[in-house]
Amino acid sequence: MEKIPGTDKIKLTDETLAASENYFSGQPDLIVDATGRLRLLPKLLGIGAREGGRRDTALFAHVDDTHLDYAGHVHTTRLDHGWSWRIPLQGRVSVGMVIGSEHLPKFGATKEERYDNLLKQDSVLMKVAKDAKRITPVMEYTNYQLVSDRMFGENWALVGDTAGFIDPVFSSGLFLGMEGAVLLADAVGKSSERAFKHYEQECRHHLKCWHEIAEYFYDGRLFNSVAVGEKMEMKYPFVRLMSPWYRNHFGKVFTGAASNSNFSIGMLRWVVNYTAKQENPQALKIH
Ligand SMILES: Cc1cc2nc3c(=O)[nH]c(=O)nc-3n(C[C@H](O)[C@H](O)[C@H](O)COP(=O)(O)OP(=O)(O)OC[C@H]3O[C@@H](n4cnc5c(N)ncnc54)[C@H](O)[C@@H]3O)c2cc1C
Repeated sequence: MEKIPGTDKIKLTDETLAASENYFSGQPDLIVDATGRLRLLPKLLGIGAREGGRRDTALFAHVDDTHLDYAGHVHTTRLDHGWSWRIPLQGRVSVGMVIGSEHLPKFGATKEERYDNLLKQDSVLMKVAKDAKRITPVMEYTNYQLVSDRMFGENWALVGDTAGFIDPVFSSGLFLGMEGAVLLADAVGKSSERAFKHYEQECRHHLKCWHEIAEYFYDGRLFNSVAVGEKMEMKYPFVRLMSPWYRNHFGKVFTGAASNSNFSIGMLRWVVNYTAKQENPQALKIH
């Protein structure tokens, strides 16, 4: 790809057109960048991105086995520092740790040392994965929270991580990417600037919602709302009565079904803030 000088347009290089074996009859009308964290097109056009506030490192690999409280379920666990996922796969488990980058040096110099030592030394992981044998290399991602300053131009559009990514918690990434693709297809069908603006607005709104949801996870308000809610259920019949409705409703937020609904997010916001007034969520913060 290359920029057409003096315009906001891009085009495929002759080399790329040749490699496509004349698939296109000339230049395509629209180029969609779905290159993920690589952000090929934004780098080419010098498009900036707004970074999120977190400075985490994610280390992840597959191990042969771990303890699972519920077979087949994705497990999300608070660690001494940060949090961890365990995703059971066929004959193996994906184990990842998301940790403030400043905590990592004490676990070793390389990503492999850090990962293997965390499995053995973190007080939570050592209970569930002390004897786990790593069977893949370790992957490392850092500072991944960002939202692109622009998401479409005259003959291009961004979709998926290259448009924006918030956080691995609650696995919103693939969902946002897929939803973005459906919205973008709709804009392409309508083929007007208004439709592309709408696409960008929707993507930004949804990324903003997930940012807020992730914040409640990290600052302890989410766990606190569960703990306070359970106590209130014991005490007040009305809360007990309402509880299934809340659980069902919030389940839809965390699975994505209602994660961009103003009503659902507003309700979640109200609950986490109300319960934070009953008990200080500080102790449940992810450190
Ligand atoms: C630590 C971590 C854990 C995560 N865990 C989860 C999870 O459990 N569940 C979940 O839903 N999401 C998770 N995500 C997010 C998820 O991985 C991404 O949101 C999702 O993969 C984004 O999809 P994408 O298609 O935009 O980009 P990608 O999946 O990165 O795909 C981009 C593709 O473009 C290709 N590419 C790049 N440059 C070029 C080029 N020049 N030419 C041709 N091809 C190119 C790449 O090879 C790649 O195949 C996680 C993210 C992180 C950081």
